[in-house]
Amino acid sequence: MSAAPKLSASPTLALARPEILALAAYEHALWDPSLERLHANELPWRADGDPSRAGLNRYPEPQPRLLVERLAALYGVTPQQTLVGRGSDEGIDLVVRAFCRAGEDTVLITPPTFGMYAVAARIQGAAVRTAPLEVARGFALDPDALLAACEPSVRVVFLCSPNNPTGNLLDPDAMARLARALEGRAVLVVDEAYVEFATVTGMTPRLDAHPNLIILRTLSKAHGLAGARCGALLAAPEIVALLRKLIPPYAITQLTVEAVLQFLEPPALAAMRERIALLRRERARIHQALSTMAGIETVWPSDANFILASFADPDRALQKALDVRLLVRDVRRQPGLSRALRLTVGTPEQNDRLLGALAS
Ligand code: PMP
Repeated sequence: MSAAPKLSASPTLALARPEILALAAYEHALWDPSLERLHANELPWRADGDPSRAGLNRYPEPQPRLLVERLAALYGVTPQQTLVGRGSDEGIDLVVRAFCRAGEDTVLITPPTFGMYAVAARIQGAAVRTAPLEVARGFALDPDALLAACEPSVRVVFLCSPNNPTGNLLDPDAMARLARALEGRAVLVVDEAYVEFATVTGMTPRLDAHPNLIILRTLSKAHGLAGARCGALLAAPEIVALLRKLIPPYAITQLTVEAVLQFLEPPALAAMRERIALLRRERARIHQALSTMAGIETVWPSDANFILASFADPDRALQKALDVRLLVRDVRRQPGLSRALRLTVGTPEQNDRLLGALAS
């Protein structure tokens, strides 16, 4: 990797909390696998049955070089544009902590959307402002309304595409225009946790054009690795360097590093693409079945691995699912979704069971 970029000149960095810009990062123990380690207070022996390749008695490599390189290649960006963390949840938290001063700055979200953005803001003591998606246009982004809601204290704007819980993609050109309009005012985070289930590339090819754009990707969804806790935050090198100062030095466990590297090998990626193809077929089948089912008011089209539907009697639908031991997500507290449930696409057998229960 090239030398760390300077953390001063960029207008995007000027938006960060001054104390984070000034922060001297923790100096972790030197990482040099060619030397023997008597510098990190580790035990020199491995525990009995330690299943790892490198030894769990050792601290893992901070920002593991190979994993960063593999994820950067997977997403078509450079390693300098890639920060690896414990899922997108960690990326959300890091961005809010880096850019929002408690009691002063604001996070803007577009409900109905993923709940962690507002939670991360509140943990940080940032205010939360909303610019709702347009229900009547299939939960489309309204860039003008969003910009109008962007008062000067807004430092971070979160968009989610495909959006959770509605399942729709947001217009990439509208997102790019927003990023441009917010330059020097706020960072625009586009959470693409579900983008592999769609048939689009997402925003990564536009990363170079937008210094204030941050993209969140995760291995939790399409890669089937939610339990490994691994995701990538993609952004301009100076943003990545800034957030590296905040992320704990040994965030990614050795077991996760080794497992994820294995699952990023070509055979595993080919198997993943097959599972996605099956999932898309199941999604279409569920959508079709729900669209003609009595008691269902609306089924929204989805580019994700779940389907949002509005029920005449949602309590009854929840109970019907439970009767066949299936949990579905009650999203009725979200604005505009007063009778909606979110159904994750399962195995064909689970989907049959759910559809059978709902139809009964
Ligand atoms: N973003 C969205 C939109 C999500 O739905 C989720 C998980 N439900 C996450 C981020 C967090 O995922 P993870 O931390 O596992 O990457």
